[in-house]
Amino acid sequence: MNRRDLFRTLPAIAVAGSANAAPAPNAVKADVVRLNLKHTWTTVMSSSTFRDTLHVKLTSQGITGVGEGAPISRYNESAVDGKKLVESLAPMLVTADFSQFSKILAQIFKKVEGNWAAKAAIDIALMDWMGKRLNVPLYKYFGLDPKDAPLTTFSIGIDTPEMTKKKLEEAASYPVLKIKVGLDSDEATMETVRSLTKKPLRVDANEGWKDKDEAVRKINWLEKMGVEFIEQPMAAHLIEEAKYIRKRVHMPIFADEACLHPSDIPKLAEAFDGINIKIDKCGGMLEAYRMIQIARSLGMKVMMGCMISSSVSCTAAAHLSPLIDYADLDGNLLISNDPYHGVEVINGKLTLPTGPGLGLR
Ligand code: MG
Repeated sequence: MNRRDLFRTLPAIAVAGSANAAPAPNAVKADVVRLNLKHTWTTVMSSSTFRDTLHVKLTSQGITGVGEGAPISRYNESAVDGKKLVESLAPMLVTADFSQFSKILAQIFKKVEGNWAAKAAIDIALMDWMGKRLNVPLYKYFGLDPKDAPLTTFSIGIDTPEMTKKKLEEAASYPVLKIKVGLDSDEATMETVRSLTKKPLRVDANEGWKDKDEAVRKINWLEKMGVEFIEQPMAAHLIEEAKYIRKRVHMPIFADEACLHPSDIPKLAEAFDGINIKIDKCGGMLEAYRMIQIARSLGMKVMMGCMISSSVSCTAAAHLSPLIDYADLDGNLLISNDPYHGVEVINGKLTLPTGPGLGLR
């Protein structure tokens, strides 16, 4: 380019430069959304008729990514605190380049302790944004085949025999059920369920059993009831007890409350056959993906679960589900006011939306 050509192009560069000089700042929105449960939900941890989750919207370049995190009370998290955290990160997020989502999330993880559900909401919103920006569904972004998505269980909370019967009728279209146990009434609950259905069952004790020999006894009994596997028989920190139980039972044992983050997995490999990953627990899709890879490298089975949440969080998990063995992604099926449509369950199988990003409608 000679001098004359250069001067001829300068006005065009200046005009383009002025148009780019002050791009509209990104928008950051955080809301607490109350999700109403179809039935009162009881586990050994709590009983409730609604759940509040944190919803995050991140907008840049005219594209809005949507995310959700379901705060887990066991880890002292709340949706209100999550909203405050996201608002405190807004000054950083409004000037960020969302296509550098890995860098943004690394900065947030370094800066913020805990608040895993809020981190998950930000991560999901960024991933949804990126998928929309690239015009690909997230399963495709991760290189996955949606046909590999597994069946999902439908969960039956602890309840009276009459209500258990009603819930089983409502779960008629789900080929595999997950039953919550961990109370003195376990035998009665399981006998009620077994008298009403022959479906494969998976069982979650949610750390409910206090004694390792009691756990062995109950699991040996469950083995005769056609149960495929069990989650978290005893408290999360009781790793030696988990090893003791594993040596004395036949069914696979999964760590859930004992397995929060990627760094937890190596120490669990001797005590458990698999792990239950939840996006709300680990802090997002990227962390969940990392956990799947670590568990695989240690020869462990992988399931993905969810909290009670809307289709945002369940769909995010479902986009990674072609990588896993078992899914328990029914949080959105347990609520009556889901603000979105996303993943669907057809004959028990997770069916991923094909729109860009999460593909939510
Ligand atoms: Mg569990």
